[in-house]
Amino acid sequence: MSEKFDIPNKSNFVPTVMEPGSKLKFNCHKGISCFNACCKHADIQLTPYDILRLKDHLGVTGTEFLKNHTVPFEMDKDGIPGIKLRTDNDGACLFVTDEGCSVYKDRPTACRYYPVGHMAMKEAGSTEDEARYFLIKEDHCKGHEEDREISVDDYRREQEVEIYDQINRDWLQLMLKKKSAGPSIGRPSDTSLQFFFMCSYDVDRLRRFVMNDSFKASYEMDDKFYETVEKEDLALMQFGTRLLKQVLFGDVTIPVKENAVDKRIEERKEVLELRRQAEIEIHKQKKEQEMKDALS
Ligand code: SF4
Ligand code: SF4
Repeated sequence: MSEKFDIPNKSNFVPTVMEPGSKLKFNCHKGISCFNACCKHADIQLTPYDILRLKDHLGVTGTEFLKNHTVPFEMDKDGIPGIKLRTDNDGACLFVTDEGCSVYKDRPTACRYYPVGHMAMKEAGSTEDEARYFLIKEDHCKGHEEDREISVDDYRREQEVEIYDQINRDWLQLMLKKKSAGPSIGRPSDTSLQFFFMCSYDVDRLRRFVMNDSFKASYEMDDKFYETVEKEDLALMQFGTRLLKQVLFGDVTIPVKENAVDKRIEERKEVLELRRQAEIEIHKQKKEQEMKDALS
């Protein structure tokens, strides 16, 4: 048996698996009768790198992009959060225009791959995942009637999707690992799910988290690291995946400061003690006031 993790596709039918060298008969161009039909029924799941490319294209912050251009959904029964492109009430992508895609240069992975579906598969007992592809045939898409044959590999090159796969690879492997772990892991806590969301999609919040003193007190990272992630979204995003792997899967690659956990427990104890003393003081004042009121 094998495990797989599917990345975005827009169809529910059972696909035929294709190898990288397999040929597909397909072409898409502006003059085609169905031009824009796919974007008018868009169901586009985003990867972490898609978000960076799109928010930079639009010149907005990550927070603004998430708020105005995406909707969250649950990727599996454990509630692992995913992000999709927001559409209008008729299901049309907000980026489609009469001229085509208004963010074409930075369109998401799923849009580049279409009509090829993409999944990572891991054979039982294997440590390496392998890419597998399948063809999505939908009635509205007339590209399959065009007279052009192209291999999956050449199509990926033409659509410039390789850089996306390369950058998203670790994150996609993590999804595969989560899926392979099966039901024994169970539904993660709400805190873990929020942590997953932040590390995967919310680059602004991740930056605040990493630049925070309590992060610096916990992890052994040098000044160069902080200089880089303060400025560079991509480096930060890739670090977010490492952090996820370490925190949720115990794959330790980020050195933890010695005694960091003990120190945090001590600090927490101090805070709790201060809070306890403050509560005692408030209680005393209340009692004194009650006695004064009773005597007056
Ligand atoms: S991002 Fe562009 S290509 Fe993708 S669905 Fe929207 S308009 Fe179409
Ligand atoms: S050929 Fe397919 S992918 Fe191209 S515009 Fe038409 S529906 Fe969309």
